Amino acid sequence: MDNVRTKGASELSALRRLIDLVRRWLTRTRKPDAVVWLPTSARDKMVSLARENSPNETGGVLLGYESADAAAVVITDLVDAGPGAKRKPSEFLPDGYWQEQEIARIYTESGRRSTYLGDWHSHPAGVAAPSRKDDRTAQKISAHVDARARSPLMVIVAKHRDTWRIAAYRFDGKRLRHAKLKLHA
Ligand SMILES: [Zn+2]
Repeated sequence: MDNVRTKGASELSALRRLIDLVRRWLTRTRKPDAVVWLPTSARDKMVSLARENSPNETGGVLLGYESADAAAVVITDLVDAGPGAKRKPSEFLPDGYWQEQEIARIYTESGRRSTYLGDWHSHPAGVAAPSRKDDRTAQKISAHVDARARSPLMVIVAKHRDTWRIAAYRFDGKRLRHAKLKLHA
């Protein structure tokens, strides 16, 4: 009986070592995370909109441009949910018509530089990580011909005790992957 248990334990530790090895190999071969530059003013606006609308969810659209190699994304503008938005604790429906007009206005005023990059939304009672629904949303945006965002961004503002945490993700063709968020003036 003792023998069997010892054998089982050593097989288990061999398996653990193998899993560790695979995990380390995956980390080394993984592409580096994309860098997302966010204006401090946009971060502050997201947090204040998230706070104002809590316990309901809110969100909007992110505009900006990508670096030539697509490794960095620079957010220049933030669009909120709009005057006709409907908000609930676990979802919100933006005022799409108003948002389209805002996107067009910013695009023109930026000299056709700032285009649609993706979305942002709050998790008033959750973590700053994408839900399965968020993954599906990113998939839909990526597949949408008109969106012009093959690797859409998703920025999430989540309530953590008395503060709000912010994190950025980028769709890699399969799911939303964590991106490095850096603030710029
Ligand atoms: Zn979400």
